[in-house]
Amino acid sequence: MNTDELYKKYVENIINLGATNERVRTALKRAVKAYRSNVANALNRFPETAEKAKKGREIKEYSIEHMDELVDKACASIEENHGHCYKAKDKEDAYEIFDKLVGENKLVVKAKSLTSEEIELRQYLEKRNNEVFETDLGEFIVQLLDSRPMHLLAPAINIPREEVAELLKKYTGEEVEPDIGKEVQKVREILREKFCNANIGISGANAISADTGTIFIIENEGNARLSIGLPPVQISLIGMEKVVPTLEDAFLVSEVTWRYANYKIPAYVNLISGPSKTGDIEKTTTYGAHGPKELYVIFLDNGRREMANDSIMKEALYCMKCGACLYECPVYHVTAGYYGYKYIGGIGTIWDAYTTAGMDKIAPLAYTCTLCSRCKVRCPFKIDTPKMIMELRRRLVKMGNVPPPLKEFYKEVTGKDFTI
Ligand code: SF4
Repeated sequence: MNTDELYKKYVENIINLGATNERVRTALKRAVKAYRSNVANALNRFPETAEKAKKGREIKEYSIEHMDELVDKACASIEENHGHCYKAKDKEDAYEIFDKLVGENKLVVKAKSLTSEEIELRQYLEKRNNEVFETDLGEFIVQLLDSRPMHLLAPAINIPREEVAELLKKYTGEEVEPDIGKEVQKVREILREKFCNANIGISGANAISADTGTIFIIENEGNARLSIGLPPVQISLIGMEKVVPTLEDAFLVSEVTWRYANYKIPAYVNLISGPSKTGDIEKTTTYGAHGPKELYVIFLDNGRREMANDSIMKEALYCMKCGACLYECPVYHVTAGYYGYKYIGGIGTIWDAYTTAGMDKIAPLAYTCTLCSRCKVRCPFKIDTPKMIMELRRRLVKMGNVPPPLKEFYKEVTGKDFTI
């Protein structure tokens, strides 16, 4: 697609699928209201969070400055813990590693992971004849819909219960009432057997500590712990930017993440440092007890090193994907997840530029941002996304990649004159 066609497709998507879709707008309005009040309550109850967020930013600044060194250290810790470590420079490299570890015709259960979305891992594994189940409820709904996540943390934020009931009915062949409690029970029934029979469990990470090689996974549903706890093999695909120096640092970053991610206190925080083991017979450590017998960790670069070496764009790597900024973004309010390729919103634009879409396809997103800076105010790490967007535009202009007149496209798509 050339740049003009790309803009047209993008404008069509955000207008037809997002901005003029009443269902999406209603769902988002409710979600934003709930998010603001939940986070305000959480910050009132835990006022020390603001101070911890400041410290969290310092940890991330240090970690990105020393990213390669910390990944090496984390790898050494994981190997020491009887896990195995790989480094993937891009998506193809990661696929090759997954080919080796997963192969074909396997049953795979997968916890939610933006890094796996980034490289379309489920779709790749399915092409290799594996049966893959997303086990996060929202991701499972998105999988049934054959759609894409509409928020960094709440993938099915735009799907009302009535539509979920129809989807589940189609999948199971049974009548399902549009009652959220009953829908949750139905998905529990469907996935329970998959957890028990899966050959492989796949996850991402919210953070990982270099000194102990401990993977942190925050969740509420309990699906991540079943995905990584029941199958005999666990594979974690982790972006290089997730490594921080110590266990305490990983805890602090995770705590700030869950506070701003609308969790107050999550039901579970999983900490995994190696395959399962026991020393109960003669104090002899034996690997492969009740949990996974094997643990593999794959660190993904896929543009992260390039960002880390860029004095302005490296700030995007501090992002812990809490999704808080999206609730304040006026563009996200009307476009939902259509404001992005794999990542979403202003910060997602920077991520997409480096990890998924590339500079050739990023212009429509770069020019969607209003530069209002509300994201920066909400962000716990005060990440200056508008500054990075401005820099992105400056670079795009230099490349001659500028938007065609928006008004013409708007009229072409809607038949109406563009007004603000
Ligand atoms: S930019 Fe800040 S608020 Fe937005 S997802 Fe990242 S850390 Fe959270």
